[in-house]
Amino acid sequence: MELSFIAYLRGRCRSLPSIHLGIGDDAAAIEPTEMLQLSCTDQIIDGVDFMSSETPLSEAGYKSIAINVSDIAAMGGMPKAALVTLTLPRENSTKIAGEVYEGILEAAEKYNITIAGGDISTYDGPLAVNVCLLGEVAKEQLWRRSGAKEGDAIVLTGPVGGSLSGRHLRPQPRLDLVQILQDVVKVNAAIDISDGLSLDLDRLCASSGCGAELNIDSIPIHPDALLMAKESGRSPFQHAWSDGEDFELILTMSQHDADRLSQSHSDLGLTQIGNMVGRTGLWKKNDRKLERLPPQGYTHNSNTTDVVN
Ligand SMILES: [Mg+2]
Repeated sequence: MELSFIAYLRGRCRSLPSIHLGIGDDAAAIEPTEMLQLSCTDQIIDGVDFMSSETPLSEAGYKSIAINVSDIAAMGGMPKAALVTLTLPRENSTKIAGEVYEGILEAAEKYNITIAGGDISTYDGPLAVNVCLLGEVAKEQLWRRSGAKEGDAIVLTGPVGGSLSGRHLRPQPRLDLVQILQDVVKVNAAIDISDGLSLDLDRLCASSGCGAELNIDSIPIHPDALLMAKESGRSPFQHAWSDGEDFELILTMSQHDADRLSQSHSDLGLTQIGNMVGRTGLWKKNDRKLERLPPQGYTHNSNTTDVVN
């Protein structure tokens, strides 16, 4: 199967000029640039990250690229090339590979990514799609989790919560904001929300050695969270606080930059939800007393939503 499928893929894959050699050789060859090279990888598995009984496989393929694009966006970079490894169930493997690749190629086209290589194998197990995504960013424009400073504004790029009602299958990584933000402000720290607003904000805080004081009422709640709350017994806020797979970005920047940004780019849908503080942990802004907020979200050592302290 592999040879004919690779021939098909070569025909379908577009190549950027910087990809010297792509699919079909022992390794891809990519022209180096003066930028920092970014690389990340993420794998999705049938039965864990999606259900093939409920989800078209092209959606799984699309998601496998989009979630990696979100990680590159969270570094302030742009994606460039992907290596894709499909581990396929033995039965119907060619058909499954073709369906998964429909979504992979759609996402690659959308985000201007060359599929530069990968691997395909079959076994007696569920479908797994692994994407290693390569990207780049200018050295002075690299965003990291560890750069937040006390007093920084905490900015959220869009509404959160309730993605499991369907949005999680078509993630919209905020690559669209990267260049605008790079041009207008200095982002001190960034992370994308894969496992929940509070859990990923807590990770950013831990990396930066500070905490966050939040104006809870300002957190934008996605309409999907309102719908899910009607059936889940949890509040819309709890969904916004702890649901994963929003793929919005949490950014920190000086208050001055945040104010400038909200004036010059009020149309971007950005919301300041609080400020970084010296005291570690997540805190609710309150006139009289400080209330500690436990981070909650998806943890990868189980398939359930756990409280993480
Ligand atoms: Mg991430």
